[in-house]
Order: sequence, then structure tokens, then C-alpha cells
Amino acid sequence: MLDIRLAKLLGQPDVSTFLRGIVSRGRYANAYLFHGPAGVGKCTAALAFARAALCERVAGAARVDEEPSLFANAPQPEAPEGSNVGSDDACGECRGCRLSAALQHPDLKFVFPLSGEEKTLDETIETTYGTMREDPLHVFQYEKAASIRISQTRKLLEELTYRPHTASRRIVVVRDCDLMREDQFSALLKSVEEPGASTVWVLTTARLARVPVTIRSRCQRVRFAPLSEPLIRDVLRDVAAVTPDDKVRMLAALAGGSLARALAMRDAEPSMKEQRDSALALLAPALDGNAAQLWSAVQKLTGFGRTGRERLKLTLEFLQLWLRDILRLRHGAGSDAIVNRDLVKVLQPLAARLDATEIRRRLLVIEEAIRAIDGNVSADLTLFSALARVGGSRAGESAWPAHATSRWDV
Ligand SMILES: [Zn+2]
Repeated sequence: MLDIRLAKLLGQPDVSTFLRGIVSRGRYANAYLFHGPAGVGKCTAALAFARAALCERVAGAARVDEEPSLFANAPQPEAPEGSNVGSDDACGECRGCRLSAALQHPDLKFVFPLSGEEKTLDETIETTYGTMREDPLHVFQYEKAASIRISQTRKLLEELTYRPHTASRRIVVVRDCDLMREDQFSALLKSVEEPGASTVWVLTTARLARVPVTIRSRCQRVRFAPLSEPLIRDVLRDVAAVTPDDKVRMLAALAGGSLARALAMRDAEPSMKEQRDSALALLAPALDGNAAQLWSAVQKLTGFGRTGRERLKLTLEFLQLWLRDILRLRHGAGSDAIVNRDLVKVLQPLAARLDATEIRRRLLVIEEAIRAIDGNVSADLTLFSALARVGGSRAGESAWPAHATSRWDV
């Protein structure tokens, strides 16, 4: 079951406090826009917020149109029996909470991007609900063509013309709303402006700039922060039961504040350790200043342009972590603070030899290369040049090896 609560949101204390404040007052805006990096719990928070708003024991649930009480925590005689006056979160026990935990509450509408043929959509939705019920850490992964389908919004807008079924309001959660077409937004906009039968919209996006200004300006924005590395480590270890500890550290360090990214990488093939080893293998020719060998190693890793950008970025991120470890050792950190603990014997002499400025310079080189990979550049040249500069040689800029131009000779 999807027993999620606002009180238990991971690493978003401000958001949790803000949303619980809304629930306890029972005064909702027409629309909220949850934005922030991918994989930090926006959708989970949206569903937890919906559950709290639909909980039958939450005091505000039945009084959406009334003025807020000055004494929200004071007992209110008109509260229905069993009501948890002053409550700001789902109780987890009432009928509403049981239905929302099963994603079967008639007044909770959850819309998310889909791909595939129209006739298979219902089945895909059911399968996704099933996975979400079983795995609270379920990671949404879409195909490139995935979008919020027209049929989904059409059906939704039709339902919105009726009153909510059982609760005093209806909550519509739209995950990754930036994957919606312009005309869907305009249909939606009409509903946001005239919510009719007490509809509260909760839109989520990791790409705020892609949400039309007309929508953004009509929503109350709620900003989510990246998650901390120690928090991601704890969740991987204690909730997702990832082992061994070295893998947990590596995933958390590579997650870049996104729990979903860490979880998505957990079962990667080849394994994280193998990918790290092939990334670090590039360092040997770079440090030797052997440009020809470095170029051929880079070509092999990039598969002559066939290796995906994500994999290449990951390669660079492994090099970043390697340098971060050296920097930390340099500043006297114990082996507890480093990620590549199995390589501490190799790292220590490097930390003793390289000064902090030089390590930072190399980190910047890698950072620049990661950004370049995102842009429209030749991946193999970027990787080669970054490594040549990390190796301290100028091979990347002046003495090109013969192989470097062979691609354009044919
Ligand atoms: Zn409840």
C-alpha cells in the first residue's frame, strides 16, 4: 500500500511544514505547482498532500468554503464524529486514507506521462498503480515519446464537471506536467480559473521553464530542494536494502541529490564498480601523457559515438568522485569520508603529491566536460581533451595523435 504521509517526507522539512499548514487550516489554493530537481520526492509529496486533504478525520476536510478559525487547534463542536480536529496529515486508518493508499479514492485523480498505443493505456496505468502500491520507492522511467495523453486530460476534464464523489473536494495530481501539449494546458487553464466543484490541482515538474507562463502564474509554487548525500545513503541502506556499503556510498555520491537517480542506477549493467573501473582506466594513459593510447581508450569507451550521453557523463562523474576523494584525503579526511575506499592505497600518495589548487583545476575541467556533453559536441573529443588536461599534458590542445583525425579521413 502507498501509506505516505506529509510528516514523513524525505529531506523537505520546509515543504512538509508548509503543506501541513494548508491541511490544518483547510484552506486550499486552486492550484499548486511543485517544482525542483528530478527525483527528490515531488510526486510523493503531491500524493501525500492529496491523501491528507482527503482524510476523513482531518478537521479542514469538510469546511473548505468557511473562514479559517483563529484557533485551529481548539476543539470545534461542529466537527463530525471521529474527527481529528487540528490534524494536518492523513490518519492512515479512515476509509478515505485506505482508498487513497490503494490509489482507488474516487476523488484522487493521478495523471502521469504515458507512451504506447492508445488501447493499451488503461492497462499501463493499472500496472503502474500496482507497482506503486507494492514499492513505495518506485521510480518512474519514461520512454522518450512519453507524454500526458489527450485522452487522459479529456476524460479528466469531463469528470471535473461533476461534484466530488465522497470528499468535500477533489485532488488532481499531474506528474511531470511539462510533458503536456499546449492545447491541453489551455483546456486545463480554464479549469484552474474556474475550479467549479472544489478541485485542487497539484502539478509537478522538474523543468519549470517548460511550463507555460500562463499556468505558472496561476499556481502557488512550492519549491523542492535536492536531497543530501547522507540522506540518500540512509534511504538506500535502510529502505531500499542496497548492499554492500561501498555500493551505497557510490550511488549516493553519484545521485547528485536525486534519490530516483540513485535508485535507477542500483541495478545498472555493467555494475557501478565495473563502470567506475573502466572510467578510472582512462587515467593511466592520461597521466602518462600517452596521447595515442588515451585516444584509442576514449574511442573504445565512446563506442565511436554509439555510447549514450548518460554513460559518458557517468564516466566523467566517476573521475570527479576520484578527484573529490583525493581532495578530501588531502584535507585530512579519514577513509570514512571517501567513496572509493577500496582504492585508498592508490589515492593516498596522489593526495600527498597534488596540491589542492591543482585538484580543483582538474575538477573544473571535468565539470566543463560534463556540461559540454549535454550540449551538442563531439563526445569523444570532449572526453579526450578533458582527460588530457586532467593528466596535466597539453596533448589535448596541440599534439593530436594520428588517430584523432581518422574518423574524418574516410
Ligand atoms: Zn484518514
